[in-house]
Amino acid sequence: MSATLIDGKAFAATVREKVATHVARLKDEHGLTPGLAVVIVGDDPASHVYVRSKGKATVEAGMKSVEHRLDADTSEEALLTLVEQLNTDPSIHGILVQLPLPGHLNEDLVINAIDPAKDVDGFHISNVGLLGTGQKSMVPCTPLGCLMMLRDHHGSLSGLDAVVIGRSNIVGKPMAQLLLGDSCTVTIAHSRTKDLPEVVRRADIVVAAVGRPEMVPGDWIKPGATVIDVGINRIDAPEKGEGKTRLVGDCHFESCAEVAGAITPVPGGVGPMTIACLLANTVTACCRANSLAEPEGLTA
Ligand code: NDP
Repeated sequence: MSATLIDGKAFAATVREKVATHVARLKDEHGLTPGLAVVIVGDDPASHVYVRSKGKATVEAGMKSVEHRLDADTSEEALLTLVEQLNTDPSIHGILVQLPLPGHLNEDLVINAIDPAKDVDGFHISNVGLLGTGQKSMVPCTPLGCLMMLRDHHGSLSGLDAVVIGRSNIVGKPMAQLLLGDSCTVTIAHSRTKDLPEVVRRADIVVAAVGRPEMVPGDWIKPGATVIDVGINRIDAPEKGEGKTRLVGDCHFESCAEVAGAITPVPGGVGPMTIACLLANTVTACCRANSLAEPEGLTA
């Protein structure tokens, strides 16, 4: 492997430390404790694991964590009533409704019912519009984490060619907006892109957010490029024993690492940054709600 490993776990730890320092300052100097409310509907086991780790990380950063666990058959009206209560609760600065919601609930309606100032996931249509027009917004956590790692590695991103593979509302599109905001020349690729390998070979920065295990091989990567692998895919790992599995990204790590200048691993790359950025967004929301200076380096 010749690429530099971008250690998301270590970087996330520094972000969490910065958050904790700022939280301590808010408490000491202003008597404020940032509060994050997470709402989960139904009993999807993976979602419950995510929610537990978000709550634990919130408390570890010195913030208030509130979890609302609702039954799978909760009505839309009941969920909207809870969101409204959280919108008006002054001790809550961030609200996250864990997705996906059960099929009878309209996700767009619920997300757009959250006060945009408390929308720490950055999915509210107002935040999407603010980001798209280069204004101050709440930025989705996963692309924010990718941006922080890219800035840390490169310093300035200005003028670099960036290719984002994937155009989802939660990763691909906001990632492209953030890179454009940092003056990259941005291409968004997707399942209908013609000659994807040639498109990717042009890139100084490749962000893969596809959800297809090891789809991007090393011979698509321009020598020296930076590869940010957002994908999290579980595949069979018979070499570990019968029925065993392992996590891989959307990029074929070994071959990409031979060509790239820098690369994030899976696991231990983008994943840990997502929770760290949720904490960062919560402290940012608390500062904005109280017209206080925002922590440096924790926003886009
Ligand atoms: P989506 O399924 O919403 O979007 C996938 C995107 O990939 C789509 O735009 C799709 O194109 C594109 N795509 C699919 N197949 C191809 C192909 N063969 N060639 C080019 N593009 C293709 O996924 P998400 O954005 O939600 O997530 C992407 C990955 O990131 C997943 O593995 C997910 O688990 C992971 N993830 C990781 C997070 C983390 O914290 N590390 C957080 C969020 C997601 P089209 O639009 O044309 O269908």
